[in-house]
Amino acid sequence: MDTFMLLVFTYGCSTTVINVARAMCYSRLVECLCEKWDELSAGSISLFCKLPGINKCHLDNEEEFQNMVLLAKSMGVQHVEVVVELKGDIGQSSSLGLLRVGVEDEIDALRSFCHHKEKVLLSAPWANGITHVGQRFVGGAQEFRDVLCKYAIQGGFKFTYVKNETTRVTAVCAMREERGCLWAIHCRAQRANDFFYIKRFSDVHTCGTDVRTSKNPRVSSDLVSSTISEIVRDKPLTRPCEVVTILKRDYGLDVSYHVVWLGVEKAKAGIHGDHSLSFDQLRWYSDAVMRYNPGSYVNIDYDASSQQFCRFFVSFAACISGFNACRPLLFLDGTFLKGKYKGQLLAATAKDGNNGLFPVAFAIVDSETTANWSWFLHELGKVVDGKCHITFISDRKSWAFGVIRFTYLFAKNQNVPEVNSFVLSDTPL
Ligand SMILES: [Zn+2]
Repeated sequence: MDTFMLLVFTYGCSTTVINVARAMCYSRLVECLCEKWDELSAGSISLFCKLPGINKCHLDNEEEFQNMVLLAKSMGVQHVEVVVELKGDIGQSSSLGLLRVGVEDEIDALRSFCHHKEKVLLSAPWANGITHVGQRFVGGAQEFRDVLCKYAIQGGFKFTYVKNETTRVTAVCAMREERGCLWAIHCRAQRANDFFYIKRFSDVHTCGTDVRTSKNPRVSSDLVSSTISEIVRDKPLTRPCEVVTILKRDYGLDVSYHVVWLGVEKAKAGIHGDHSLSFDQLRWYSDAVMRYNPGSYVNIDYDASSQQFCRFFVSFAACISGFNACRPLLFLDGTFLKGKYKGQLLAATAKDGNNGLFPVAFAIVDSETTANWSWFLHELGKVVDGKCHITFISDRKSWAFGVIRFTYLFAKNQNVPEVNSFVLSDTPL
C-alpha cells in the first residue's frame, strides 16, 4: 500500500485519474494520457502538478516525475492534481476550467496596461498552514482550529465541524451535503504528548467554491486575537478601529467592530494576563515576595467586610537597602493605570549615583486622594531609613493631597525621622 498514489489529470474541462504504481514511469504516464485524449501527443504536452505550498511544479521528465512522487509521499499526500497543457498554449490559457481561463486572461490583459505591483496580503502564508498528513500542532486543538480557520479564509471556502472536541477535530467542506464536496480533514491528539496530528486530509475541493472573499464566517474574535497579538504587544494601547483598518488593508478582511473589539481584549489578556485573575493572585504574590525576597515589605489593604481589594503597597528588599546608598532625596508622583479597572499608581523614586532613577516603593490605589496619599506615605515611613533627613520633591497635587498630613504621621511614628524639608515643583515629575 505504500506505493498507492492517485494523480488527478485535468485537461480542458475533462479529468482523469491514474493510479501510480511502483513500476509506473514518466513515458508510460504520457502514453496513458495520449490514449485518453486523442489530440495529445508525447512531444506536445507539458505537465504541472500542485502540491501543498507549491502551485506549479514541472513534470517534464522521468527524474522530475520520480522526485514529485517522493515529495508527495514525504508530505503524506495520497493524490496530486496535475494540469495537462499543450506546449503551444502555455501562458495563454489554463486548462483548470473555462471560467478560470477567462479570469486569468483578464488579469494578464490588465497587467499589460497597469504596471503596479500586485499587492501581497499578510494573510498569504495562511494558505500553507495545513500541508500534509502527520503535520503536528504543538498547541493542540486550539492551535489546529486557528490554523484551519486561517487556511479556510485564505483558501476561500467554508467548512463545518463534524467533531469538535479537545482530543479530536473533524471538519468537512460546507458544500459536502449540497454538492458532495470531498474536502475533509481529521486531526487527533496523541496521548503521549497531547500534540495534535493530522490523521486524514483530503485537500481537493470538488465543489468549485474556493474563491477568497473579504468576509468569512470563520473570522472570529479568537482569530483576530491571534492575528494581531504582536501588534498589541508592540503597542499596548492599540484601538479596535485601528485594527479594523489593519485587517482591511493588510489582510483583505472586512471584520465588524465588535468582533475586533473582543479580539483586541483577548489579545491584551493573552499578553498581559487577565486583570481580575491578576488581582486575585495578589495574595499569592505577596506571600511569594515575603518568602523568597526576605527584607521586602508588602501590604495589601482590603475591605474586611466585603473582602474587596482597596490598596497595595510594595517595596523590595533591594530597593529598601539600595536607597541607603542614594542621596536622601525622594520624588513622589502618581500616574493613572490604563487596565480594565483603571486606578492610580503612586511611586516614590530616588536618584542613584549616576543620576539614574531608583525606584524605592510603589502602590496601587483607586484614585489620587488625600486618604490614599496619606496611606502611601505612612507605609513609606516603614521602609525608609530614619537615620538621615530626607528631602521630598513633589508636584502640587500630591503635596496638596497628602504631604502635609505626612508630617503629622511621621511625627507620630517613632521609627522614622522628622521631615527636614519640602521642595515644591510646579511641573509634574
Ligand atoms: Zn468544497
